[in-house]
Amino acid sequence: MTQIETIDLLIIGSGPAGISTALHLVQMDESWAGRMMVVDKAVHPREKLCGGGVTQSGLRILDALGLSIEPPNIFIREVQFKYDDITFAVRDEPLFRVVRRDEFDHWLVREAEAREVAVRQGEAVRDVQPHADFVAVTTEKNTIHAKIVVVADGSNSFVRRKLNWGHGGDNPPVARLLEVLTPETPDHPLFAQGIAVFDFSAQNAGVQGYVWDFPSLKDGQAMMNRGVFDSRIRAERPRAALKTVLADALRQRGRELSAVALKGYPIRWFDRALALSRPRMLLAGDAAGVDPFVGEGISFALGYGKIAAETIAAAFARNDFSLADYRRRVLDDSLLGVLPLRVWMARKLYRLRSPRLLRWVWRGLPLWMRVLAMVRPAVMPFPPRVERID
Ligand SMILES: Cc1cc2nc3c(=O)[nH]c(=O)nc-3n(C[C@H](O)[C@H](O)[C@H](O)COP(=O)(O)OP(=O)(O)OC[C@H]3O[C@@H](n4cnc5c(N)ncnc54)[C@H](O)[C@@H]3O)c2cc1C
Repeated sequence: MTQIETIDLLIIGSGPAGISTALHLVQMDESWAGRMMVVDKAVHPREKLCGGGVTQSGLRILDALGLSIEPPNIFIREVQFKYDDITFAVRDEPLFRVVRRDEFDHWLVREAEAREVAVRQGEAVRDVQPHADFVAVTTEKNTIHAKIVVVADGSNSFVRRKLNWGHGGDNPPVARLLEVLTPETPDHPLFAQGIAVFDFSAQNAGVQGYVWDFPSLKDGQAMMNRGVFDSRIRAERPRAALKTVLADALRQRGRELSAVALKGYPIRWFDRALALSRPRMLLAGDAAGVDPFVGEGISFALGYGKIAAETIAAAFARNDFSLADYRRRVLDDSLLGVLPLRVWMARKLYRLRSPRLLRWVWRGLPLWMRVLAMVRPAVMPFPPRVERID
């Protein structure tokens, strides 16, 4: 017979969203370590397909937790936005840092464990049954009765599917991404100068997004992390041929797609219509929905963890487990509260198809950036001072 464990809080998923929830709770009160458990189907360091760009928003959250990224990472000091022959640059120290997600997530898990948080790895959740006084979660090894469950199991959230929680329509709010890693020499200019590129010329091929080039490190070796992000925010439009777009982009960079391993994974983006919580359960990170504009998810996942922790602490303090205030807390947060505007911006930009109109819009980038910085400074992942460099 399986044993039943009882616990105050169960966090499903030990990615940035789940571990950030745990770290924020322990930061509020160390005794939380003994009151919660994190379960993950994978064992760290586990593979996670990702560009690994942690923006200043994410770095600030880590800083407030007393953490500075330890695994090897690359400082990005310049971001170039391209559309055809138009190129703008934005600079800061750093604009973001590129990590390898297997190493970054493993490091976060070790930080949680160092604070006495129990992280059970290699234990997939197989069933979830909400009850009035607890949520029963069955893993491969055990059954756990938790007063609150945080669902942080990523874009393909098993728990959401199991509970039929969410978007029932034909067009789920999901972006498609393809990614490749290619070996580079460390004297490649993007490495030497810490430059990342977002090339929106892919919009001409029907991509509702861009092709990226991020200098990265794998096992200490210089690698270029490249990929294509298609928000699919205009889901009624035909799907772009992402593999062809990426193959063309690689060819322009002197690389052949057939020579490298191609991998794909979705990002679920924020959907206003989605209930972010139910009594005793709340969603965090990709399971809740992140950004469809540039596909930024790590900072938002860390941000969800902070708000989830605050909501959980308040629920126990009031002995009220409806968690009905979670949505308001998310939307009031200076970081997560920009998600509806990022959705709006993606809808506007990726609606455009005419190359003439796109050129006009891209030439006006400094103006759009200044307007956004005035109206909602937190909405852009990067500072608003752009310089044309083509
Ligand atoms: C190709 C690609 C490139 C990206 N590049 C960037 C980038 O450069 N910058 C950026 O900010 N964002 C990027 N993102 C988005 C970012 O990766 C995600 O938003 C982020 O990982 C979300 O974190 P999370 O903790 O919500 O989910 P995840 O990191 O996906 O963690 C979910 C965890 O849940 C576990 N899990 C799943 N099912 C179960 C189960 N049944 N039982 C137990 N555990 C389970 C998984 O093993 C996993 O550890 C990219 C995404 C993709 C696909």
